[in-house]
Amino acid sequence: MKKELRSFGKGPAVSLFTLGTMRALGSYEQMYSVVKAAHLIGINHIETAPSYGPAEIFLGAAIKRLKDEGLEPPGGWIITSKLLPSYDLAEGKRQLKSLLKRLNVPRLKNLAIHGLNLPEHLYWTLNGEGSKLIKWALNKGLIEQVGFSSHGSFELIEQAIASKCFQFCSLHLHLLNPERIPLAQLALKKGMGVMAISPADKGGRLQAPSATLINDCQPIPPLELAYRFLLAQGISTLTIGASQPKDLVIAEKFINANHPLNEIESQSISNLHEKKRFRLGNTYCGQCRECLPCPQKVPIPELLHLRNLTIGHDLESFAKERYNLIGRAGHWWESVDGSACQECGECLPLCPNNLPIPDLLSDTHTRLMATPRRRLWD
Ligand code: SF4
Ligand code: SF4
Repeated sequence: MKKELRSFGKGPAVSLFTLGTMRALGSYEQMYSVVKAAHLIGINHIETAPSYGPAEIFLGAAIKRLKDEGLEPPGGWIITSKLLPSYDLAEGKRQLKSLLKRLNVPRLKNLAIHGLNLPEHLYWTLNGEGSKLIKWALNKGLIEQVGFSSHGSFELIEQAIASKCFQFCSLHLHLLNPERIPLAQLALKKGMGVMAISPADKGGRLQAPSATLINDCQPIPPLELAYRFLLAQGISTLTIGASQPKDLVIAEKFINANHPLNEIESQSISNLHEKKRFRLGNTYCGQCRECLPCPQKVPIPELLHLRNLTIGHDLESFAKERYNLIGRAGHWWESVDGSACQECGECLPLCPNNLPIPDLLSDTHTRLMATPRRRLWD
């Protein structure tokens, strides 16, 4: 059966799901079984990174074995790997050559700048050593197109998209936090490919949802609803980080779901948001960002989003984990938590919902402050 594909920048079209490789690091056999299962359901795009431990080596070997067995997507695999925006030209060349060697490929279809999170990262890519590296790699035919992944600010992502230097981007886009969908749509409008980073896990640990969330999404399981929501928004491809073939069952179900939301899906999404609003009452933060900037650099919308998840969807353990990563994940996540609020009151007149922001930040801090957990791939 013909598989649905979506355009992805100037490169070859990609399947609606992309296999993420950071969960199949236990052994080469584990990676092989997951890549084979992905191929069999029609996935043709894989994302990896040097930061994912042995992922590239396992992946290169798995792809070769599958090819020897006659298992390869039409037109071959499309691989996206990444480089950090920090190397000088000589080191960048070394890193890229090693990356290609690990993957066992002569060239990379998609090179993403990994974590374009700060203005200096964008400068590195557009004007600094990164721009020389990209030019060199394109001229040598070692890469075919360039994109970025970002956990950075709206403004930074907008600048990156406007630069016209990137053909694709990977963003945090989630059913329970659709705040960045307009950025994705801007990128799509410019002809870029857009990949949703971790719509299941970072989207609220939807692979193990709360009973409240399951009930609110009825009759559709939360993760399925999240995938359908993103695909119906036109997002080019959704990453799915499988550790075993059975993790791809839902991707198989929706691998050709290239159509708008149906009535039941739309109704489930409305119900979900309505119930969240009801539980939060007049403390619901609409994520409009009008309250920024805070002189203490408190990321008010991001913190109140975690409060929305806790009260609105009963996702306290996920919200606690995210809250306690604040200040512990470098530029990959927020660095200031609710305790930094000095109650100066500057944000109060800016909020269209008249929220008592300092009180809500204090409440968020009290609810969510707990023992930290380690990030998956550090
Ligand atoms: S009240 Fe708190 S959150 Fe609001 S602007 Fe002042 S320091 Fe920032
Ligand atoms: S202005 Fe109010 S509603 Fe908007 S993000 Fe800030 S706190 Fe939330």
